[in-house]
Amino acid sequence: MYTGTLFIISAPSGAGKSSLIRAYLNQNPQQAKVSISHTTRQPRPGESHGEHYYFVDHKYFESLIDQNSFVEYANVFDHYYGTSKAEIEQSLLQGINVFLDIDWQGARQVREKMPQAKSIFILPPSLKELENRLIKRGQDNSNVIAKRMQKAQAEISHYNEYDYVIINDDFDTSLNALSTIITAASLEQAKQTIIHSQLLKDLLHNDFN
Ligand code: GDP
Ligand code: ADP
Ligand code: 5GP
Repeated sequence: MYTGTLFIISAPSGAGKSSLIRAYLNQNPQQAKVSISHTTRQPRPGESHGEHYYFVDHKYFESLIDQNSFVEYANVFDHYYGTSKAEIEQSLLQGINVFLDIDWQGARQVREKMPQAKSIFILPPSLKELENRLIKRGQDNSNVIAKRMQKAQAEISHYNEYDYVIINDDFDTSLNALSTIITAASLEQAKQTIIHSQLLKDLLHNDFN
């Protein structure tokens, strides 16, 4: 039994998923981490191996698939992306919450393998604002942005497979909503029973005098 919770977070590109996860981790550095995925896409300027992704080639990614190393993997925007088991299991056992920033295809696979995972979908307040954010982020050229905007509605159409939905309009309000979901998950009875086993023993079995 894991005392950490696995959170699956999906959104159309540019909805603010990475910013929300980053802000939550800044506020709660000890209690949570983001799982680093393997990908076959090229690093963007400023991205480094082992920090944002493990950047690997096609052949190596396929060897990891053959070794059954992934909890899930998917082809997104013509590249492989995957979550390795090694990346998440140790942390969950230690009571650390783990975020998976993955697409809806990966989310389906994880839900099947780890039904205790909680899934959260982040929506933008409008398609226009989504495009503005992709432009403002300044990391993708106009062709890539157009491709991501084309895919946005397909991604959004899966929002109803998720346990929670956050509309990321005002950032601080969304961050608060995310924190609330995470706090509630940590208070689930099964987890509290393990974390507070000594207290519960005392409360239930010691004589009061
Ligand atoms: P972003 O959309 O701007 O955050 O760009 P990224 O390149 O970081 O992510 C691209 C897509 O890949 C998103 O839909 C992610 O949710 C998805 N993704 C990232 N990591 C994983 C993973 O490990 N597994 C799966 N299935 N999808 C992932
Ligand atoms: P994702 O990880 O979902 O692709 P990002 O976290 O990279 O999205 O956010 C895309 C851009 O939108 C970034 O430049 C980010 O600073 C900005 N952003 C995120 N949330 C908000 C918000 N609530 N209001 C305005 N801008 C936002
Ligand atoms: P980007 O190339 O912009 O970093 O990511 C593109 C998309 O791939 C994002 O929507 C992101 O959530 C998704 N993605 C990133 N890592 C993984 C992963 O390990 N598995 C899956 N299924 N999707 C991922």
